[in-house]
Amino acid sequence: EESRKTIKPISYFSEIKQPAFFILPLICELNEALKNKQIHFQYQPIVDANTKVTDTLEALLRWQHPKYGPIPPQDFIYSLESTTFINKLTYWVVEENVDKLMELQSIDRDLRLAVNISVANLQRETFSRQIEKILQSNNIPPSLLVFEITERGLLMDYAEILHNLEHLHEMGIQISIDDFGTGNTTIETISKVHIDSIKLDKVFFDNFSENRINQKIVSGVISLGRNLNIKTIAEGIEEAETAEMLRKLGVDYIQGYLYARPMDFGKVKTWLAEQIS
Ligand code: C2E
Ligand code: CA
Ligand code: CA
Ligand code: CA
Repeated sequence: EESRKTIKPISYFSEIKQPAFFILPLICELNEALKNKQIHFQYQPIVDANTKVTDTLEALLRWQHPKYGPIPPQDFIYSLESTTFINKLTYWVVEENVDKLMELQSIDRDLRLAVNISVANLQRETFSRQIEKILQSNNIPPSLLVFEITERGLLMDYAEILHNLEHLHEMGIQISIDDFGTGNTTIETISKVHIDSIKLDKVFFDNFSENRINQKIVSGVISLGRNLNIKTIAEGIEEAETAEMLRKLGVDYIQGYLYARPMDFGKVKTWLAEQIS
């Protein structure tokens, strides 16, 4: 029984965790992948809990490896977070998406685009300035961009993180805390920097209608958000009943298969156009 539990599905990169000599080949492969367009994005809508109108699209990385097939993002991103390559990847993610963001404005003005960034990015002194340059050279209004920040592992350089967050906020980029409740972001962090929204992790919503404890936790976080003027987003919502309960609890936004799965850019444009008409 015990040994069966420890068997995990094996994928090529998920086994590669700490040793640097294993991460190096991954970085080489990724460099190739970026050049050869093996990496693209899917976009998942985040909808207003009441009106169900799309407020934001979240860009999710997809790596189609020629030999190993699709590699889930967490299988390579977590390993990269201990290297400076994570910065290169994030700049690339932002650059790839700024054009898309402008293109989307012709369908829905003021539609926002969210990208995932790692807290490791914020430890880089020049991070916010680099982002500022990308936005300026592409003429992008920063308020249309949302950074969803996930915090895994230990915080290394707290002062640098706060400084970067402050600058991103001053620029007008929306700051969202991802995986709230399961990541390492504390309520103290929320008191120190400007946060626009928090995303409640999908672990809270498994069997939500029967889980009284999770209902109370979620309700508490929603009230906390209300009091601090922070929007709340529930992610991973698959059932209409859960969505309805969340709406009654006062959650601001909902994301999940119930409304839409992640879609290719072409498909999401059609989806948006249909939603508007
Ligand atoms: P995340 O940011 O928490 O994204 C949510 C994940 O849940 C996505 O998985 C999404 O496809 C999935 N999902 C959405 N709705 C539902 C639902 O109703 N039910 C279920 N079961 N799943 C749902 P995905 O795309 O595999 O991404 C996994 C993680 O990889 C993301 O978690 C994020 O932490 C990371 N990631 C993805 N793209 C990027 C990126 O460009 N940069 C960075 N740093 N991390 C990324
Ligand atoms: Ca809008
Ligand atoms: Ca996210
Ligand atoms: Ca999450």
